Amino acid sequence: MAEPPASHPIAVLYSAETIAARVDSLARGIAQRELWAPLIVAVLKGSFIFAADLIRALHAHGLKPEIDFIFLASYGGGTSGGPVEILRDVQSDITGRDVVIVDDILDSGRTLLFARERLRSKGARTVLSCVLLDKKARRTEVVAADFTGFECPDRFVVGYGMDLGNHYRELPYIGIIETAG
Ligand code: 5GP
Ligand code: MG
Repeated sequence: MAEPPASHPIAVLYSAETIAARVDSLARGIAQRELWAPLIVAVLKGSFIFAADLIRALHAHGLKPEIDFIFLASYGGGTSGGPVEILRDVQSDITGRDVVIVDDILDSGRTLLFARERLRSKGARTVLSCVLLDKKARRTEVVAADFTGFECPDRFVVGYGMDLGNHYRELPYIGIIETAG
């Protein structure tokens, strides 16, 4: 049976307007890299709204990106070093492509590191990365994104595609769950 709707106190961290302005400047930065036939690879599920806005911003900046998805799950929490598992791999031929990985949050760094190595091993020419939020305080891997939307405090955030138990993805802003530490 489905869970009832969740209800936590949520404090707005970045408003819809602030996000839209930042997504546009991220797209401008990506457009300046003069990628050849860029392929956006969005990491599911959390990045789906960010990726949807980003590709339309890329269009506004003159790019014609293709889009594919990789569905990754990591086990054991951010700092325990559990493995990253592929629930659904990219379907495109990556060989020789200029790829931009799009993810919601760079936390421990394990997900981004895994995705980057996966796409490189499939023969990508260039692998860039664009994350909406960077939780620098929690990094355990040596990895940085090429494009970052915002710094993120070491708090649990939801909205704009990001969930708590599959709730709150629909929020148009990014918010902090106030009771979750
Ligand atoms: P990493 O592999 O870098 O530790 O984990 C990154 C993933 O953890 C993100 O793509 C995201 O799915 C999840 N994550 C990390 N912090 C948060 C958070 O505060 N809120 C939500 N909803 N997901 C998070
Ligand atoms: Mg994620």
